Amino acid sequence: MATGSVRLAGPLCSQVLASVDALLFDCDGVLWKGECPIPGAADLVNRLQESGKRVFFLTNNSSKGRGLYVEKLRRLGFQTRPDHVFGTATCAALYLRQETQLCGSVYLVGSAALRGELLGHGIACSGAGAGPEPNPVGGPAHWAAEPLDPAVAAVLVGFDEHFSYLKLCRASRYLRDPACLFLATNTDTLLPLEAGGVPGTGCLVKAVEAASNRTAYVIGKPNDFMFKCIVKEHGIDPDRTIMVGDRLDTDILMGSNCGLRTILALTGVSSLEEIRANQESDSPECHKLVPTYYVNSVADLLPGLEGQIST
Ligand SMILES: [Mg+2]
Repeated sequence: MATGSVRLAGPLCSQVLASVDALLFDCDGVLWKGECPIPGAADLVNRLQESGKRVFFLTNNSSKGRGLYVEKLRRLGFQTRPDHVFGTATCAALYLRQETQLCGSVYLVGSAALRGELLGHGIACSGAGAGPEPNPVGGPAHWAAEPLDPAVAAVLVGFDEHFSYLKLCRASRYLRDPACLFLATNTDTLLPLEAGGVPGTGCLVKAVEAASNRTAYVIGKPNDFMFKCIVKEHGIDPDRTIMVGDRLDTDILMGSNCGLRTILALTGVSSLEEIRANQESDSPECHKLVPTYYVNSVADLLPGLEGQIST
């Protein structure tokens, strides 16, 4: 059995907040649900910043670039600055720019926002990318002979409402070259909607992986790349950083993978029952999904900020 997750309240809450300099917040399910802010969340985020804490916003959603996220945060009452927002669209561009010696363009299966982030970082895109590709004509022999862009050196898969058979076919043909990089923004299989049941980017990634018999490098949570970006740009200390999220398999697992303390807010996807089931499991992999602390809502952290003295 793993060490239990503790409800963060009272003096412990003050103590934990005093022991951190930086807080990483997942957005949907933690700070808002769609267009509705979680009551008290904006007050908490703003007061954390006023008390000298650094607050960063992390999202696996690749359908918005940094600019649109900043706009949404501000519209819903959250104070922020663009360089404190890390989405998978921005981080995919940073990965290609900083971590690879990409010589060529990217075949993009993704949104206009993702294309915009790539272009904004000086990365060329090939194919229809954000828009629809025309339906294939002829039979399979014709599709296999369609000319490919020789400049393509990477395939990037993100959320794409115009995903099609032709894009799948093209992506897999580029990936036949082992030198062609294969990246995905995230692997969430459902969109975080109240109604639920709408397939997410992970379903598109699985299709391209199956067609190419390759595995994508994933930029988003639970992988550690977004955290590495924040460390690189802002020099935060993992021992004095806490990750706050609503999903065990992305937010909390990323925190565990990065050696951070974690808080699960019960306003989103994961429940207390799921924490307990992982806690009681014999599998060490399940134990990585157990948050250090949990709260009913991030607003429960507000009293812990009263009379805050850093330790
Ligand atoms: Mg979330």
